[in-house]
Amino acid sequence: MEGGCLCGGVRYTLSGELPPAYACHCRECKKQTSSAFSMSAVVAFARISVRGEPKCHERTAHSGASKQCYFCPDCGTRLWNRSSASPGKVTLKIGTLDDSAAIVPQGHLWLSYKQAGIFLDPDVPGFDTQPDDLSAWRESL
Ligand SMILES: [Zn+2]
Ligand SMILES: [Zn+2]
Repeated sequence: MEGGCLCGGVRYTLSGELPPAYACHCRECKKQTSSAFSMSAVVAFARISVRGEPKCHERTAHSGASKQCYFCPDCGTRLWNRSSASPGKVTLKIGTLDDSAAIVPQGHLWLSYKQAGIFLDPDVPGFDTQPDDLSAWRESL
């Protein structure tokens, strides 16, 4: 699968299948995406081949782990996050894939902050916050 930022300065190829995607409605994801929620999937970084030089913004996650947030230095598109808690993986932002329209979120996190007027499929599991072991939950999707 091919993807990249809005201006094309950073492009990537993801090899293999995309793991199940999930949506997060927390305040931080709203800021990061400047939208109502983020959609992500966790993939091994080794499966992504990157062209271009994303820039990194570092911050501390909920868990206390340090989190590196990668984005295009020219257009600002957020591409993926990495965490000191799982250094070989990235949380890839689904909206950066060239063809993401058919990807269905398999779960919803932080519904306590859900944007008014956004209606979700009642058959998809959702949490008011997030499971204690987030990485196990993501892998169980
Ligand atoms: Zn760009
Ligand atoms: Zn979030």
